[in-house]
Amino acid sequence: MVEFIKSCKDYLEYPPSNKEFLLVGRSNVGKSSIINALYNQKIAYVGKTPGKTRMLNFFEVDDYTFTDAPGYGFAKRDFDEQEEYRLMMEDYFTHRVECKMVVLLVDARRVTEDDIAMMDFLRHYSYKVITIMTKADKLKRNDINKAKMMASKALGLPLNAILLSDKERTDYNALRKHLENELNLA
Ligand code: GDP
Repeated sequence: MVEFIKSCKDYLEYPPSNKEFLLVGRSNVGKSSIINALYNQKIAYVGKTPGKTRMLNFFEVDDYTFTDAPGYGFAKRDFDEQEEYRLMMEDYFTHRVECKMVVLLVDARRVTEDDIAMMDFLRHYSYKVITIMTKADKLKRNDINKAKMMASKALGLPLNAILLSDKERTDYNALRKHLENELNLA
């Protein structure tokens, strides 16, 4: 069972948690879709409602929480908005000691400069990072391994830290269990 807890920006308002993972990725990478698929519930709409798109959205699942961060890399965002995002994330990384792991979502077709910048940020804070390549159904089967290798190189992550998400074929129950195991090990 997953439950939405709250949206906020300020670290003083973060809800209590035993253990948490953070989900980050570019706007439109498929973050809401994957949250809904992992928990088999249409729950990730909150982050898309007016006023909430720039906030952290906290969810609770049994004995852990996860946080949905706003999508980054939106070209039209102005400087103030980008700065606000940077400060909010810096606050999160500095204060949220309950966060043990980060799930970085990247589009299977391309890892962007923004993704690499986010990865550098995460490395700076020494997070355990798992990457999920979304929209893998948009690639030909033969190209999937090549894409995984390129992502692994670009992000500086071992191949086994790169997972796939494909609307048609992924077993999301198994993927959720895998993430939960990794969170428990973190
Ligand atoms: P968000 O902005 O990161 O929350 O992205 P959304 O979950 O709203 O997805 C953005 C678009 O990508 C939507 O049109 C989704 O239907 C589509 N999408 C998400 N996941 C997949 C996937 O695995 N395969 C394909 N082909 N499309 C996807």
